[in-house]
Amino acid sequence: MQIFHTIKEVKLYVDEKKQLGHKIGFVPTMGALHQGHISLIETSKKQTDITICSIFVNPTQFNNADDLKHYPRTPDNDIQMLQNAKCDVLYMPEVNDIYPNNEILNFDFGIIGNILEGEHRPGHFNGVGQVVSILLKGIQPHKAFFGSKDYQPVMIVKELIKQQNIPVEIFSCPILREADGLAMSSRNKRLTNEERKVASLIPIMMKKAADLVREKGVTYAKLYIDEQIQQQPLMKLDYYEICDTESLNTLHDIYNKQAISLIAVFVGAVRLIDNLEI
Ligand code: AMP
Repeated sequence: MQIFHTIKEVKLYVDEKKQLGHKIGFVPTMGALHQGHISLIETSKKQTDITICSIFVNPTQFNNADDLKHYPRTPDNDIQMLQNAKCDVLYMPEVNDIYPNNEILNFDFGIIGNILEGEHRPGHFNGVGQVVSILLKGIQPHKAFFGSKDYQPVMIVKELIKQQNIPVEIFSCPILREADGLAMSSRNKRLTNEERKVASLIPIMMKKAADLVREKGVTYAKLYIDEQIQQQPLMKLDYYEICDTESLNTLHDIYNKQAISLIAVFVGAVRLIDNLEI
């Protein structure tokens, strides 16, 4: 695996490969890799000739300085995992390679940018827009692969490439979970043993709540989630919503609609997200 630290080097490499007719796949990450990330590498490898992974803990998408400071960083293990997965290129930039001029771009993603994560993490999607547009414009892959755990961010990325006319195909891949159902996440590494046990309740209560949405309605399911979380002193709910899968509009009933439940919950100091189609 080749490791580059500047986007210029990556672009030179990509141009060479494109001249040979190769299709380029790209998997952006913030590192502290787990099997969920590797599943994206594997999907890219199946669908393209060359797979590029980036590892960059993007400071502009953190609305909480403590979260940025404590974000797990495991570069040696990440390199090993990517080598094992036969990833072709790893791009590991410093902040000044991504933001050489400290230029702040401002995006307007409309309603989907202002609800759920947009509402609860002000500025987050602007930071996501900044880094993803720089990466996609700099690397110019044919296809980019994201995890559907980040359901709303993937919608934001699709809106971004439409607004910016970036010629890339975006793929949303399934959520990989631990044996007990907890969605894999780099932030899980920050949980204490006790918090990790409590976190495993998230997928259980989401599944039960999805059943309740179907049987008794949205209000009942939301009350159930509130009650369950209030019983856990280590948990604090940020939001739980039932939304239309396409528009992300909040739903009060699911009659004749495609619905998805989305949750953000603090377990101790660690904020976890998950989602489940209803
Ligand atoms: P992150 O490093 O958290 O920014 O994630 C990088 C990419 O991996 C994003 O597209 C995530 O949606 C994806 N990802 C994170 N966790 C999972 C998971 N459990 N299953 C599948 N993809 C994931």
